[in-house]
Amino acid sequence: MHDAKIIDQLSDLVSSFICYAGSHLPDDVDAKLKEMAKVETEGFAPTIYKAMADNMELANELKRPSCQDTGIIQFFAKVGTGFPYQNELPEVFEQAVLKATERAPLRHNAVQVFDENNTGNNVGVRVPWIDWELVPDRDDIELYVYMAGGGCSLPGMAKVLMPLEGYEGIVRVIFDQMTSYGVNACPPVLLGVGIAGSAEVAAKLSKKALLRPVGSHNENPKAAMMEEELEKGLNELGLGPGGLSGKLSVMGVNIEQAARHPATLAVGISTACWAHRRGCIKINPDLTYDFVTSKGVTL
Ligand code: SF4
Repeated sequence: MHDAKIIDQLSDLVSSFICYAGSHLPDDVDAKLKEMAKVETEGFAPTIYKAMADNMELANELKRPSCQDTGIIQFFAKVGTGFPYQNELPEVFEQAVLKATERAPLRHNAVQVFDENNTGNNVGVRVPWIDWELVPDRDDIELYVYMAGGGCSLPGMAKVLMPLEGYEGIVRVIFDQMTSYGVNACPPVLLGVGIAGSAEVAAKLSKKALLRPVGSHNENPKAAMMEEELEKGLNELGLGPGGLSGKLSVMGVNIEQAARHPATLAVGISTACWAHRRGCIKINPDLTYDFVTSKGVTL
């Protein structure tokens, strides 16, 4: 038996969270873009950075989405095993998306595969996408929302390499993909890289890497070094803001890894655009919350 009152209350909260994430950049992304704008002083770049800043100011002021493509809504939920409303969560997430679609408003982005019809409400087969993690000895839920836009999802891919290709092979795959499709993701992008033993694990880790703050580093010193070297190398491509050339290409590179099979080396890539709509909120059993990615904000 599901608690209808809790579903209503929680879906209201999560819907407000989605609306806010759609019209405000997280604190870390906002700070990084301001830092990059100071470096980009030539060509079109200052105009593009100014347009981005004006765009965000208007989105905040008018409470409208910061980009017309509000993406497919994806939730990444770290649920404490003691959280009292676990049964209600699937319904909460669906209701929250339906409410946010009207309130934000969100563009209708859920097209049913094979039937090829747009559902018109951002809910479809396995959409919103929900990734579940159970966390022992916790009674709260750490919820991430990510708005997966079309352009920023386009460079996404996963491939299994022979281990002989080594970490150089991973770098080659990343540069091939970024030089082919990077501009579609409205740079400067945050690049998420997953390294694992199979394609689906690498792909999922690359998306989870995008949930980490810009400027954070992998705990493994070798992985952290690879993040830094990739960031330097990708900036050398000079994609610039909007892909119209400049001194920089990426807000950063975040790598996540899982142990691999001895005979495989899989790499996954996900990109987040400059309008990196990701939010994180911690919800307690009494439904009070801490808005992790936008400190001090009340929903
Ligand atoms: S890549 Fe991002 S900023 Fe560009 S159109 Fe898509 S959602 Fe909007």
